[in-house]
Amino acid sequence: MEQVEAKTCIVCGEQKTEGITVVTAFICHSCESEMVQTKVEDERYPFFVSQLKQLWVRFHA
Ligand SMILES: [Zn+2]
Repeated sequence: MEQVEAKTCIVCGEQKTEGITVVTAFICHSCESEMVQTKVEDERYPFFVSQLKQLWVRFHA
């Protein structure tokens, strides 16, 4: 049995065990699927984009 460590999601800030890790950032499964479904006109879209930009900046640093 594998021990899964809880990580802090960069989008919702909650500790989750299921999700994706991009470089050093973790996005939980629910936020990931939410982001995929979020349309550009959605009011939360700019929030997701800004969170992802942080990630992108880190990735290119
Ligand atoms: Zn999340």
